[in-house]
Amino acid sequence: MRLDLALPVRLRLALWSAALVTATLAVAAYISNATMRDALLRDVDATLMERAAQIEARIVVSPDQPLSEPPMPWQMATDAIEEYSAPGIYVQVYDASGKLLATSSNVPIGGLPKDEWAVELALLSQPDLTILPGGRARLRVLTRPLVAEGQTVGAIRVAASLHLLDTFLQRFEQLLLLVGVGGVILSLIGGWVLASRALAPVYAMTRIARRIAVDDQAAPEAMVLTEPPQGDEIGLLARTFNEMLTRLGDVFRRQREFIADTSHELRTPLTVIRTSLDLLELDLPAEDRRASLREAREEVDRMSRLIADLLFLTEADDRDAIVHGRVDLAEVARAVVRRARGPEGLTIRPGLLDWAVVLGDRDRLRQLLSNLVENAIRYTAPPGDVIVTVRRLSDRAVVSVVDTGIGITPEHHARIFERFYRVDRARARSLGGSGLGLAIVRRIAEAHGGTVRVESTPGRGSEFIVELPLAPIAAIDAESAQMPAAV
Ligand code: ADP
Repeated sequence: MRLDLALPVRLRLALWSAALVTATLAVAAYISNATMRDALLRDVDATLMERAAQIEARIVVSPDQPLSEPPMPWQMATDAIEEYSAPGIYVQVYDASGKLLATSSNVPIGGLPKDEWAVELALLSQPDLTILPGGRARLRVLTRPLVAEGQTVGAIRVAASLHLLDTFLQRFEQLLLLVGVGGVILSLIGGWVLASRALAPVYAMTRIARRIAVDDQAAPEAMVLTEPPQGDEIGLLARTFNEMLTRLGDVFRRQREFIADTSHELRTPLTVIRTSLDLLELDLPAEDRRASLREAREEVDRMSRLIADLLFLTEADDRDAIVHGRVDLAEVARAVVRRARGPEGLTIRPGLLDWAVVLGDRDRLRQLLSNLVENAIRYTAPPGDVIVTVRRLSDRAVVSVVDTGIGITPEHHARIFERFYRVDRARARSLGGSGLGLAIVRRIAEAHGGTVRVESTPGRGSEFIVELPLAPIAAIDAESAQMPAAV
């Protein structure tokens, strides 16, 4: 797999930084070395030219007077070259025929390296600057014509030892190399340390994610990272990762609770059915047998309802499961009230029913309303009222189901919308509730982009209020152009 072959990021960053530093240092070293060499060599060349000019001025008299003839100017040349030679600077003078006339006495053992070609060129009036190998050190050699009144009368060679220059440059190069190697090592270590520090939270995240991936029992919310203090990208990633862990922990916990609650809810009817079946085995009077059978059938019905509700809740998790059509909530409310059946003495009636069209799923909205109405009937003892109203408020439709029942104390208001949460478990069960009714209501409301809340006074009654966004005007216009749909 390609991923296995990849170098760790921190090593890659360290190598990249070292490579960039190496390249920068190499270019800087090359430029400074070349500039230094050029400057020093130019200095040497200037000295050589100056010396050559001084000697020329001393020994050249006139073009008609050959250097090697009486009054023997070469003798003057010898004096001059002795005068102008210096430690490390050597001089030779040639006559017009290319014969060596004089050499300064300080030349290294073995003399100056010969360069007849350069002398010939000089006699043809062409100066030449070159570097030749000489004894202990290299030599910079200037060969130029000796000129008198515009005529070449001989040649002069002035050479300077490059010993000092070469030693200096060698030291300079060693220093550059030392600085370069130090810089590269430093950048390698620096890059590694910086990358390791910056990536530490990423490694911690990987360890945690891997633990969650392999360990079923891992509790993600207990593994949060200590967030790096800086608010950079990695800090943001760590914070996001922590939020995700907390959420994941919530989901895991809710799922565990849900499974526990579901098993518990299913166990109760199964126990009842089991007891009824056991009773049927006994030799009971016909009346009791019928009662046992009825009870078993009721529990089977309850289980079927529970499973249908559970299935619905898992389906409703999927937002795409909601069909989006235009639904008039007043029509839905009218239909639900018409079909609702309550005990004697309980009035179930519509209140104000505004025309309020929302975009949504007609069946699910009807289920939302009938769950609320069923609850109102279940928790209101006769004589009493259950009233359903639909109102339009700016961009919202507000549906309310009011009852005059037992009410709910405030501490339960937030929790009654959770799955299987009941204020009075035994009472709710005996009244036939599955504990999922309000969870379904909330899920449907949220799937439509709406909310549900409760207002209630214990002993006086409750009001469940659902708010849903109204369909945009264009959608309503389109609908009013069509035939109203039957509910
Ligand atoms: P259940 O099937 O138990 O009614 P729900 O989810 O529909 O489950 O309701 C949760 C709990 O909320 C109920 O057990 C009951 O205690 C309380 N409740 C719901 N509606 C009403 C109401 N109209 N009046 C009083 N209490 C209610």
